[in-house]
Amino acid sequence: MNNDIEKVLFTQDQLNKRMDEMAVRLNKKYAGQEPIVIPVLNGAMIFASDMIKRLNFKLTIDPMKASSYAGTSSTGKVKIVQDVKSDVKDRPVIFMEDIIDTGRTLKALSAEMTKRGAKSVEVIAMLDKPETRVVDFHADDYGFKAPNEFLVGYGLDYNGLYRNLPYVGVLKQRVYA
Ligand code: 5GP
Ligand code: MG
Ligand code: MG
Repeated sequence: MNNDIEKVLFTQDQLNKRMDEMAVRLNKKYAGQEPIVIPVLNGAMIFASDMIKRLNFKLTIDPMKASSYAGTSSTGKVKIVQDVKSDVKDRPVIFMEDIIDTGRTLKALSAEMTKRGAKSVEVIAMLDKPETRVVDFHADDYGFKAPNEFLVGYGLDYNGLYRNLPYVGVLKQRVYA
């Protein structure tokens, strides 16, 4: 599997350090509150499980699954494939996402939670690809800025594979061929 990786962009160590930093702000901000944390499946499962362990306030974990992607290019449509079970009304919502690319997914999901009456909505992402944004959307915080390349690892897949790599990397060209 590692033989399919062209280069490693972010190591487990780098990710751990950034998650420690990101948790400090969240622990201050949500002290005394009970947010609903929404990992966006499947991509965010690794990042979210690591982040959540760093949080020391009361919270509910309630994942969502959205789909807007096939292969390596965006189709532009956002569909809720699995919804939260919780009533978000008057609760703070924290989305945890693997990577913000076009911005469509989290713009749509955030708007939906606002519509349902969430007390507040924020989005934290492991990675942010600012160059490929097609809608006006910013994460409240993110781990690292990522280049405009197709990335795998740490939850990010190519056709369902490579999510278990303990780092974020770029696939070799021959893997797509
Ligand atoms: P959006 O374009 O709506 O911001 O992002 C939708 C989803 O596309 C992301 O949550 C992620 O699952 C997927 N995605 C975007 N860029 C990449 C990438 O470089 N690698 C992988 N594996 N998935 C990506
Ligand atoms: Mg995702
Ligand atoms: Mg994917």
